[in-house]
Amino acid sequence: MGVIVENTIQDRFLNPNVPDDLVASIRPRTLSDFIGHESLKQNLSVFISGARNRGEAMDHVLLYGPPGLGKTTLAHIVANELGANFRATSAPMLTKQGDLAAILTSLEPMDVLFIDEIHRLPTAIEEVLYSAMEDFKLDIMIGEGPSAKSVRIDLPPFTLVGATTRTGLLSNPLRDRFGIDLRLNFYSPSDLAKIIVRSAGILGTAVDMDGALLLAASSRGTPRIANRLLKRARDFAAASGKKDIDANTIKTTLAQLHIDANGLDQIDREYLNTIIKHYAGGPVGIDNLAAALSEPADTIEDVIEPYLMQLGFVQRTPRGRIVTDAGYKHLGLVK
Ligand code: ADP
Repeated sequence: MGVIVENTIQDRFLNPNVPDDLVASIRPRTLSDFIGHESLKQNLSVFISGARNRGEAMDHVLLYGPPGLGKTTLAHIVANELGANFRATSAPMLTKQGDLAAILTSLEPMDVLFIDEIHRLPTAIEEVLYSAMEDFKLDIMIGEGPSAKSVRIDLPPFTLVGATTRTGLLSNPLRDRFGIDLRLNFYSPSDLAKIIVRSAGILGTAVDMDGALLLAASSRGTPRIANRLLKRARDFAAASGKKDIDANTIKTTLAQLHIDANGLDQIDREYLNTIIKHYAGGPVGIDNLAAALSEPADTIEDVIEPYLMQLGFVQRTPRGRIVTDAGYKHLGLVK
C-alpha cells in the first residue's frame, strides 16, 4: 500500500515535547477544548480565575499520570488561561544546580515554568527548588572550598507545573510544595471518540462515529495514541483513494498495525507471552522481564504495564508480575 508502518514503543511515545506543526495544532489550547476530565477542569478553572482576580501567581501544580494523557497540554493551557508566558524544560536536561538557577533567574513575574519528568531531578537540584517554590528565593553557592559563600537571590513570583508518570518516585519535601495535585486517568472510549473527531477536523479529514468509537476502543485510553492511529488511518484512507475515514478503514488500519480490539499491539503481546512462556505466568521481577524483552525497566513500567493492569491482564505483586486469567484468555490460552 506504500505506507510505512512503524510500531515500536519509541514510535508510540517518541518526543512528545517536541511538537511538529501538526501536533501543535491538534493540541487543545483552552480548557474548553480539553476533552474529558470534567471535574479536574472545573477545579482548575476555579484556581486559575482565583489567581487571575488576585493578580497573583497561581499555586504550583503537580500533574501525574501515564504518558500521552495530556500533562504537557494542560500545562500549556494553564499558562494560556492565566495570560502568562510558558517556559518548559525537562528534568533529564537539568544536570547542574546552575542549569536550574539560569532558568529561574530568567523568569518574568507570573510565568508558568513546566518541568517534565520531575521525578528525575537529581536531589541537589531538587533542593534548589524548595526555597524557589516556597519563598521565591534562590539559594546558591558561589565559589568552591573555604571561600565558597551562599547567596540568596529574589525571584519573581511564578507557577511551577511539574509532570510525572510516577508520583511514588517524588520525594515528600518536593511533593508537599505543590498546592494543587491533579491526576490524569485513562480516557473513556466516548471521550476518546470526541478527541478523534476533533483532531480529524483539524487534520482536514472526517471520521464517522462508528469509526471513531472503533479507533477509541483500540487507543489504550490515551489521546496521543488515538491521534497517532488517526493519522495512520488517514494514510490508509488516502491509499485507497478516500478523503474521509470510515469504520472499514479503521479496521484495515488496526489489522495492518497488528493492534487488537483492546488496543494491545505486538509489544504488549510479547510482554504477556514472555511472562507466560518463560516464567510460567509469573511472578517475575521487573529486571528479569526488562532483560528478556530488551526494553528498559522504566519504559515497561511507564508505557506497557499501566494499561495492561487497567485491563486486569497483569498484576504487580511484591514478588513480581503475574499474568491473570483474563490475560491468558485474551491470548486464547488457559491458565
Ligand atoms: P503528556 O504530557 O501527558 O505525555 P500530552 O499533553 O503531550 O501528554 O498529550 C498528547 C497529545 O494528546 C496532545 O498533543 C494532544 O493533542 C492530545 N490530548 C491530550 N489530552 C487531550 C484532551 N483532553 N483533549 C484533546 N486532546 C488531548
